[in-house]
Amino acid sequence: MGINGIVDLRSDTVTHPTPRMREAMYRAEVGDDVFGEDPTVRRLEEMAAERMGKEAGLFVVSGTMGNLISLLVQCGRGEEVILGDRSHIFLYECAAPSALGGISLRPVPNLPDGTMDLEEVEAAVRPDNVHFPRTRLIALENTHNRCGGVVLPPEYFRRVRELADRCGLQVHLDGARMFNAAIVLRVDVREFTRYVDSVTFCLSKGLCAPVGSVVCGSEEFIREARRARKALGGGMRQAGVLAAAGIVALEEMVDRLAEDHRRAKMLAEGIVEIPGYTVDLSQVQTNMVYFDLSEGTREDRLEVVGRLRERGVLIGAYPDAGFRAVTHYWIDDRDVGRALEALARAVISPKE
Ligand SMILES: *Cc1c(COP(=O)(O)O)cnc(C)c1O
Repeated sequence: MGINGIVDLRSDTVTHPTPRMREAMYRAEVGDDVFGEDPTVRRLEEMAAERMGKEAGLFVVSGTMGNLISLLVQCGRGEEVILGDRSHIFLYECAAPSALGGISLRPVPNLPDGTMDLEEVEAAVRPDNVHFPRTRLIALENTHNRCGGVVLPPEYFRRVRELADRCGLQVHLDGARMFNAAIVLRVDVREFTRYVDSVTFCLSKGLCAPVGSVVCGSEEFIREARRARKALGGGMRQAGVLAAAGIVALEEMVDRLAEDHRRAKMLAEGIVEIPGYTVDLSQVQTNMVYFDLSEGTREDRLEVVGRLRERGVLIGAYPDAGFRAVTHYWIDDRDVGRALEALARAVISPKE
């Protein structure tokens, strides 16, 4: 299938909207959402809040904006957030909480399973002392992108909540791909969200919507989040055309994520068989396959990416993490086959 004949495995963000989404967007009832008058946005926000087991939701432009708003509402200037050193918020969001909110980011090492050691988290909580910033929040991520798309279990969330309560902290979940985690463990997403104060999830990744994320939390939190969104320039007008696709995403695209997981496994198991590459199968739990060239392979990563591109296969390459391939709605079994064939041909000469 692919997209325009290309097997694009760089990310699940490349997904185009499905035909059902385009239809829903065309027909969407709209209004001025800054006035609270867009019925489609309201419906999406209510649906999302219900799914997350929270009082209210807020449709935002992106996951980055959702995370930023969540931190801005829960932390003041000179206050601190504890988060993983491989978390998306720490690595890939322009230090926006610091730049725009005066919030200090305090990274704690992420373990290969995506968790942080809770003793280290507790040690990072600042005592009440005139020298220190005040710790306000712990931010979690599930699935954990830079740890391989791995799944953190609800039990870990429970333990973080307990620690947070003991220390008087809030908990935020960057749940960009939290439905992927819930599908793998066959649990309701509320098994995670019940332990957090705020949560952001993306409609625009594996769920295929063209734009948007939803932030969920208490009524009071969302009231403040709405102000923060306006301040950041994220107040949209007839956003129902976008929210309509988000509603289809929630209704139709969640359960099928299991197919993406099956294909990621298929891809990873195929890569294991090709001389010249290494992949840690235990880290392939959802729709992501991080892999690399074996020690002593002649080609470098950019050469491999270039050769794949010539064959219509796109993957990501990272200086410190090898390659990443992500399966999604627009990747079918044949596309996985095509990617494997291109990978096999891209490494010509593994050295002995
Ligand atoms: C993609 C992603 C985000 C940010 O979402 P955008 O919509 O790209 O801004 C946040 N956290 C994680 C874990 C992500 O994968």
